[in-house]
Amino acid sequence: MAALDGLPPLRDVIQRHGLDARKALGQNFLLDLNLTQKIARTAGPLEDCTVIEVGPGPGGLTRAILALGARRVIAIERDSRCLPALAEISDHYPGRLTVIEGDALKTDFEALTDGRPVRIIANLPYNVGTQLLVNWLLPRNWPPFYMSMTLMFQKEVGLRIVADADDDHYGRLGVLCGWRTKARMAFDVPPQAFTPPPKVTSSVVQLEPIDNPLPCSADKLERVTQAAFGQRRKMLRQSLKSLGGEALLSKAGIDPQRRAETLSVEEFVLLANTL
Ligand code: SAM
Repeated sequence: MAALDGLPPLRDVIQRHGLDARKALGQNFLLDLNLTQKIARTAGPLEDCTVIEVGPGPGGLTRAILALGARRVIAIERDSRCLPALAEISDHYPGRLTVIEGDALKTDFEALTDGRPVRIIANLPYNVGTQLLVNWLLPRNWPPFYMSMTLMFQKEVGLRIVADADDDHYGRLGVLCGWRTKARMAFDVPPQAFTPPPKVTSSVVQLEPIDNPLPCSADKLERVTQAAFGQRRKMLRQSLKSLGGEALLSKAGIDPQRRAETLSVEEFVLLANTL
């Protein structure tokens, strides 16, 4: 990283500021310049964008995003120990990095934006990553306040995000993501790329919002997918019993003997709209 932006190597930063990784905060840091740049590049052109980053930690990914020319970065970090290290980056890029100390789950991201194109880029803490993604999929307005999300998850979660019907990983998350976004797996990251290394492989996933998703109540879609995948090996007439079972399915024109994992996103939307 030193060669790219003239700031000290991340290992030194972590040592100088005593940023020993805390498991409770999902802290697995990326120290490899090539990798943080690869993640930032996956997002697309950054020059005219405001980038929202959750959990900058010691700032490895933040530095890559700034070095690649993001106009502005707004970073939300829960761990106050990281703030002095982030302040050094802020001083190095005057006026371009705003750090907010707080809990991303309680942050109103839409209110942080200023009308310019927004990209979300984050190596997410594993314990809140899925909930954050669901929040970003269900904002007040659609199209949403962001033009893309480039997010690192545990690979298992990444597979669920991009899964289609008839895929073992297909479930509530795949339906929700498939309804409102185009999601693709960008690349995998092995455990040894992190400090400390987690137990599992991670994946970077790229999601882009669809302008006009099929009209549907998110609440109803959640209810249908929750019931259907709650008993995924059972026929739909059984798993959807509490929501009307056979009557609901025949009204929607869906064979009650099918199982949840065989239904396309469009068919789940149809069921939700029939509820
Ligand atoms: N971006 C850094 C990197 O790639 O090296 C750190 C990523 S680490 C996986 C996750 C970061 O999210 C940590 O810095 C952690 O303190 C922060 N974090 C954990 N929970 C958070 C929350 N609820 N809101 C904001 N940040 C959080």
